[in-house]
Amino acid sequence: MTNSAQIPHTQLPSEPVAHCSNCAACCCQLEVLLITDTGVPQRFIETDAWGGEVMRRLDDGWCAALDRDSMLCSIYEQRPLICREFEMSSAECLDERRGMTGIYR
Ligand code: SF4
Ligand code: SF4
Repeated sequence: MTNSAQIPHTQLPSEPVAHCSNCAACCCQLEVLLITDTGVPQRFIETDAWGGEVMRRLDDGWCAALDRDSMLCSIYEQRPLICREFEMSSAECLDERRGMTGIYR
């Protein structure tokens, strides 16, 4: 018979781990300024009030390049620099997840 002290156990994190695969693309509602040319297709770009190029967002607030079925970026290889530098599980990422109304609160 195995006693409980011998049973291997896994320490579970106290909070769910933030990962893009368990997120509804919370950060893809932020304004994304295009500061370098990464090949974003023109149809996803618009000019803001200050003349800067930004990712176009649809009426629901999400980026026009977000695939609504998978909730993944449809232009991942060409995504803007800001999107590349937005780090999963960073303080900004966790803030965005907390700020979404829904299951991440
Ligand atoms: S970086 Fe963070 S907020 Fe953005 S999709 Fe991934 S888990 Fe969600
Ligand atoms: S370009 Fe892609 S990663 Fe960046 S905000 Fe749009 S959908 Fe998200």
